Amino acid sequence: MTKRREDILAFFAKEDKYYTAKDLYAYMETNYPGISYDTVYRNLHLYHDLGILESTDLRAEKHFRMNCGDQHHHHFICNACGKTKKVPICPMSEVERFLHAYQIDGHKFEVYGLCPTCQTA
Ligand SMILES: [Zn+2]
Ligand SMILES: [Zn+2]
Ligand SMILES: [Zn+2]
Repeated sequence: MTKRREDILAFFAKEDKYYTAKDLYAYMETNYPGISYDTVYRNLHLYHDLGILESTDLRAEKHFRMNCGDQHHHHFICNACGKTKKVPICPMSEVERFLHAYQIDGHKFEVYGLCPTCQTA
């Protein structure tokens, strides 16, 4: 159980990237032949609920990555290699100026493009 948890976290620690449940399952299946998709999926959501992983919807699919900070933050996501860069500020204080009478329950903010490596490739 502990080993499996370590393997899941090692998978996410490898790169600054978002992965789907399917990506993780493909990796886990090579280490634990016969492991069920449900088990992997449950673990994934548990770590997300615990705040170890953070998530976003990309191309209509939920993606997960290692949580990269205690402070609220956003990300740049490279369209070519999928690598991310943390953006340690939030534009919401600006946005809220236009929403005085509104109750705000959440927000999404992501920047997409090409990372410096992919621009030279
Ligand atoms: Zn992050
Ligand atoms: Zn890139
Ligand atoms: Zn924010």
